[in-house]
Amino acid sequence: MEKKEYQLGDVVQMKKPHPCGTNEMEIIRMGMDIRIKCVGCKHSVLVPRTKFESKLKKILRSNAVTEEESS
Ligand SMILES: [Zn+2]
Repeated sequence: MEKKEYQLGDVVQMKKPHPCGTNEMEIIRMGMDIRIKCVGCKHSVLVPRTKFESKLKKILRSNAVTEEESS
């Protein structure tokens, strides 16, 4: 099982796409609850962390700056 590591600014894919058809959500707030914003329609939702993790499919893009860069 892949470990899910996410942080603020990451773009993630959920198990179910947003009603607008986009399946890319950006993490815009992290705390007890996590606020994610749909990349497609800019609609944001607040979900409890546990719920977010159970619905998270994968991390598409990480905001973190990586040492290694593939060119
Ligand atoms: Zn949407």
